[in-house]
Amino acid sequence: MKTGKLLPKSLLLACTILLLSCLAGCAQNTGPCPPQPYADLSDADDFVQDDQFPFRFPLDDANPYRTEKFTKFCTPGRNRLDAPYKYHAAEDYFQPAGTPVYALADGEISFSGRMGGYGWLIIIDHPQYNIYSLYGHLSPSRWYMKPGPVVKGELIGYLGDSHENGGSLEQPLEPHLHLGIRAGQRRDYPAKGEWRWMAGWIRPCPADVGWLRPSEVVAGQSIPEGGYPMPNTDFLAMWGVEVLFGLFYLASGLGVLIYASRKNKSLLLVFGGVVIAIAGWLFLQGGWRISPMLLGLAVVLLFFGIRRIALQKR
Ligand SMILES: [Zn+2]
Repeated sequence: MKTGKLLPKSLLLACTILLLSCLAGCAQNTGPCPPQPYADLSDADDFVQDDQFPFRFPLDDANPYRTEKFTKFCTPGRNRLDAPYKYHAAEDYFQPAGTPVYALADGEISFSGRMGGYGWLIIIDHPQYNIYSLYGHLSPSRWYMKPGPVVKGELIGYLGDSHENGGSLEQPLEPHLHLGIRAGQRRDYPAKGEWRWMAGWIRPCPADVGWLRPSEVVAGQSIPEGGYPMPNTDFLAMWGVEVLFGLFYLASGLGVLIYASRKNKSLLLVFGGVVIAIAGWLFLQGGWRISPMLLGLAVVLLFFGIRRIALQKR
């Protein structure tokens, strides 16, 4: 049968087409992206007290920023020699470690966990306004809220110390809140690429991929009818990188399944099943859409592997 040879070849072709389409899609957003100033938050104390306002500023002090820092919305990366450099998809507010952080609005915590350069990261979905809010550089060592419902102004965690907030003892990171607000829900976005849901610095102009200027949202207190609109894009520009990664694991798993079944290598089936299961589990933690498919493939590999071993022992 030729299907065994045909399948990896067609998958390879699909991956190549996807990669090229994705690169074309990623290259589209290269328009000018000037850094935007902080909006005036001098009325923010009222937002905390009054329930008629949908949003509250997530810190007690609404004017803690230091304007000389390159941390406003759409600010280009520090290393301007990196071409094309990346833009800040959020606003940073500098406060001491241990400063309490509160929920921007009613919603559901859809992620609360360690995340690369963020130390501890919390994401809250606010479906009633069609936005999600992102709180980076929180403290993993202090109390933090786990996934579940949350109300506006509820304590969700504390700012992290300079060695645990994404920084380290060798390269400490000054304590601050990285606040992102974006149109859509966390699950509307992939876990990889410039459209990734946890992005802090990205190549496209953040406003082009759904990120909103946080202080403007809080100061404005006005929600467009039907919620904030999703950004315009095509499927591959948004999902291309995650689809590629997913296809790679899927193709590897299918390759092992076909090869090991033909060569009667039961242990290879089990080994492949375990590897794909671990990948699927890790991807599930990172909010990857491909993870259920990988976990399903792992079950198939393990089922056939263990079944073969059981049959051989009879
Ligand atoms: Zn930041």
